[in-house]
Amino acid sequence: MMGTNSCNGNHSTKKKKKRGGTKKRMTLEQSLAYKSVSEWVYLDTISCSSNSATVNDDDHKLKLVHTKVSAEKLVFELHSHSICSDGFLSPSKLVERAHQFGVKVLSLTDHDTMAGIPQALEAARKIGIKIIPGVEISTIFNPRTEFVSEEPVHVLAYYSSCGPSNFEKLDCFLANIREGRYLRAKNMISKLNKLKLPIRWENVAKIAGDGVAPGRLHVARAMVEAGHVENLKQAFSRYLYDGGPAYSTGSEPNAEEAVRLICETGGVAVLAHPWALKNPPAIIRRLKEAGLHGLEVYRSDGKLAAFSDLADTYDLLKLGGSDYHARGGSSESALGSVSLPVVAVHEFLKVARPIWCGSIKNTVDRYVTDPTPSNLDHILRYSKIKLAKGGGCSSITHNIQLIHECLSQWLTNEEQKGADFEAVAGVEDDPVGP
Ligand SMILES: [Zn+2]
Ligand SMILES: [Zn+2]
Repeated sequence: MMGTNSCNGNHSTKKKKKRGGTKKRMTLEQSLAYKSVSEWVYLDTISCSSNSATVNDDDHKLKLVHTKVSAEKLVFELHSHSICSDGFLSPSKLVERAHQFGVKVLSLTDHDTMAGIPQALEAARKIGIKIIPGVEISTIFNPRTEFVSEEPVHVLAYYSSCGPSNFEKLDCFLANIREGRYLRAKNMISKLNKLKLPIRWENVAKIAGDGVAPGRLHVARAMVEAGHVENLKQAFSRYLYDGGPAYSTGSEPNAEEAVRLICETGGVAVLAHPWALKNPPAIIRRLKEAGLHGLEVYRSDGKLAAFSDLADTYDLLKLGGSDYHARGGSSESALGSVSLPVVAVHEFLKVARPIWCGSIKNTVDRYVTDPTPSNLDHILRYSKIKLAKGGGCSSITHNIQLIHECLSQWLTNEEQKGADFEAVAGVEDDPVGP
């Protein structure tokens, strides 16, 4: 989505941060939220740095959290793009930049691909920030009436540290959309050519980069390079805007179908930039019925009252992120610039964590029922434990110990107990295999 921010939500009072001024004291609600959020944020760093005698002690973890972070600001950046879609930075550079900007938790949400997640995770582990594996899915909303036209809708999905519980199903869904994007870019180019603005497919493909499904932004960049427009904004405002003379739709799925798939694969579904929609209430109502969890309401210029009200009406989480692409230019919000209140983040995690825990449990249970190398790979997909080719050790006991190691980084003991990982419980006490 182009971040020109020309939209008119009802801004509530813009809060200017006083630098160096007196710090406001947290209310009880805020400090409880802060405690719970920081426990989650530092879960894996603490379980890594503790010795084995303290790993299983939630109280100890909490104490460590409090000595370690004493009221450090917990910046969550929940919307960002890399070169794996239409961003300008590699996933690792994006993570480095996030760290420079004080971000503690980053969600990489490339369009229709999760290809950048492993690289982002690797960089984040070195630096010590947390990644929420995410994706922004391109969909179409069908209003089911001939009087209102279809419109593009972007839905963000946030997954557990273990990724989607049915990775293949999601991946196939996303691959279809990406394929449609190639076709769509070709259609846009042919429309531009008919408008006597010659653009070559090769240029667009080169700008998008190897294996990256081209988007509108790549076409716009080719237009700037060819000298047909002065800048990206002009390319959009004259030709590529939704329904514009060179606009084309791809083969995006129905928005509700995407929301249902996100729910089914253990994700949290959040409607992106609702202020860019023509008919937000109707879309929000229908997506809520399909299982939508939240709505972007916060931007770097503050909370949009109209969308906050809609979130209240439909009992949805209030979230937001900068939609950072590293495009440069004054219209782009900086990475980490959206100030999400700690209470909003807490509400998000309150909804997300049980979903993620259930999704991790499904993935682990699948391995226990059918201990194949591919089912093990599925659990370890995003973990730092890398197995040798061939799916790791043949000893199930050994592999289950690896799983325990992952679980202690992803979930608190309480969550593990609550989710009842009975299938892998007790294996610890068995004699260790070779
Ligand atoms: Zn978008
Ligand atoms: Zn985006």
